[in-house]
Amino acid sequence: MLPTVLQSRLAQARGSLLLCRGCLVPVGRGAEAGLCAHCWDGLRILPEGRCPRCALAHADGDCPEVVAWDLGDALWDYHGGRPPLGALLLPGIKQGETGWRKALLGRLARAPLPAWTAEVDHVTAVPSTPLHRFLRGFDLSAEAGRLIAERIGRSFDPLLAKGWLSGRQASRTETQRRRLSRKAIRLQPGASPQGIILLVDDVWTTGTTLLRCAQALQEGGAEEVRVLTLFRAM
Ligand SMILES: [Zn+2]
Ligand SMILES: [Zn+2]
Repeated sequence: MLPTVLQSRLAQARGSLLLCRGCLVPVGRGAEAGLCAHCWDGLRILPEGRCPRCALAHADGDCPEVVAWDLGDALWDYHGGRPPLGALLLPGIKQGETGWRKALLGRLARAPLPAWTAEVDHVTAVPSTPLHRFLRGFDLSAEAGRLIAERIGRSFDPLLAKGWLSGRQASRTETQRRRLSRKAIRLQPGASPQGIILLVDDVWTTGTTLLRCAQALQEGGAEEVRVLTLFRAM
């Protein structure tokens, strides 16, 4: 039997040999799901004074983004931190990093939400293709939407559907993304969006998918659509 002091020194040494999966330095206090506290600090909120529609920082006046809403925001900067945390987490989560997914949803449960989320009537999420949902066994945007709905005391309604064949936006070129056909996204059979709908997604890049979703909701009868994503890529 080793003396207790030696045992605890050995345990410390073993702990310090665990390397952070983001920055490869030994993880210490505040680490979660294999990422050190410094890496988790990469979950940065967006700059003050950003545009209330497109969540980007641009000069006053005409918003350069084509949007179908007056209020759109994101919780964190996709490229915040070194290494950029959003760009590390989201692809990892889609490949099955359950620990990262739980840790991120845990942070979503505590993150301040825009004040205007209190005014929405229902929450929905950008749909993933049935094939992706089946292969991954989860749908991050819907999980985020459900959590936000719970926090603000509204119902989460899966109002939108994506076709079997429409591919993932992330694997496409910028031009392909912008061309996403209006038919790629439609209302779920029997869905009838009403009142102010909060549309949730994991990451807002070009905004084409969000735009198509918002249009489908508005054409289906929504009075207004507001957008909230976990990350904004700028
Ligand atoms: Zn790290
Ligand atoms: Zn703008």
